[in-house]
Amino acid sequence: MNVLLVGSGGREHALAWKIAASPLLTKLYAAPGNPGIAREAEIVALDVNNHGAVAAFCRDKAIDLVVVGPEAPLVAGLGDDLRAAGIRVFGASAKAAQLEGSKGFTKDLCREYGIPTAAYERFSDAAAARAYVEAKGAPIVVKADGLAAGKGVTVAMTLDEALAAIDACFDGTFGGAGAEVVVEDFLTGEEASFFCLCDGTTALPFGTAQDHKRVGDGDTGPNTGGMGAYSPAPVMTQEMIDRTMREIIEPTMRGMKEMGAPFAGVLFAGLMITDQGPELIEYNVRFGDPECQVLMMRLKDDILVLLNAAADGQLAHMSVRWRDEAALTVVMAAPGYPGTPEKGSVIGGLDDAGEGAEIFHAGTASKEGAIIANGGRVLNVTALGKTVSAAQKAAYEAIGRIDWPEGFYRRDIGWRAVEREEQ
Ligand code: ATP
Repeated sequence: MNVLLVGSGGREHALAWKIAASPLLTKLYAAPGNPGIAREAEIVALDVNNHGAVAAFCRDKAIDLVVVGPEAPLVAGLGDDLRAAGIRVFGASAKAAQLEGSKGFTKDLCREYGIPTAAYERFSDAAAARAYVEAKGAPIVVKADGLAAGKGVTVAMTLDEALAAIDACFDGTFGGAGAEVVVEDFLTGEEASFFCLCDGTTALPFGTAQDHKRVGDGDTGPNTGGMGAYSPAPVMTQEMIDRTMREIIEPTMRGMKEMGAPFAGVLFAGLMITDQGPELIEYNVRFGDPECQVLMMRLKDDILVLLNAAADGQLAHMSVRWRDEAALTVVMAAPGYPGTPEKGSVIGGLDDAGEGAEIFHAGTASKEGAIIANGGRVLNVTALGKTVSAAQKAAYEAIGRIDWPEGFYRRDIGWRAVEREEQ
């Protein structure tokens, strides 16, 4: 089959790598892609915001399945427009993508279907929101309703911080995303990411991971898109997975169907495992980046078989097999990240990651035959190991083979799981 993959990050490189290994694949195309993806796919100059042009390309190249990596094209309705043109797509509809695109939408769904999540209120004016947090006190969490690239959430430890966050939202710091605000109770526990492949009716559990959002060792410094991840998440025992399916995922699938927006694609639940059990922090409607990289390394099955089943409403008949090993990925970033990254430094030593390791490209570009840094998060060095500790060792060994003195990375990815394993 011919496949078009939409996206250009490390997540999409990992997807391309796994799709390219499928015996079902005839030809893989990618737009906009990156130099790592170019090793697995033909890169096509296609404006993915122009849905008509994407549909025309799909007809021209007899594309059997379009796989959409990032959320923005899904929220913009790429999946809907392609499906309307008779093209098979793996990815959520715009209506279903509200699970990520509007925090208020998701919280209201949780309320209606009894899904465990932090108690909350929605506000469309600053005065009412301020009065609410003054009554509630800190710690408290303030969230811009819409997509704000991970920057619209303030976990306020003081009342002043919470009030400042409310003002920032209504002052237009996050554009339209902040026109409405969700204020919710502060939850304590361990965070975990839980993934399902969905076909509108069935949700098939598709692995667990934990990531590191902060830029610095010891989970310090500013937030980033993610500096590393590992899978599986030890806190997500089979019992916790079953409970999450029953209490969170299945009611969500039912609710989405009942409101005429059946969920198909990747449902990524950000969970807080509290003393009372799993609570939903947020939904995303695509794979995590870099969580996807560790999931693809661990997946034993043919990804195209699973994506086909999701696109065709056939997941009820499927199961997923994983390797016994753990996987861990370390993000190498350009100096300046998560502020403005310095672009242009040359990266060498990318050809041999070593046994059981892969280097996925994120923000790279090709220039005069060399690979250069071209974004904030640049490489995702990913390895398998018998334990998280062994995967961690292999990933850092692979980094040791990369020649990029300007790049930086955290030295402690996986520390929580490694500590558990040492006990
Ligand atoms: P991202 O894109 O970084 O996942 P987001 O902008 O979609 O973030 P959330 O995932 O809702 O926002 O929140 C970001 C982080 O803030 C969470 O990973 C969690 O650490 C913290 N957080 C969010 N809600 C709560 C809460 N109710 N209690 C405690 N911490 C929270």
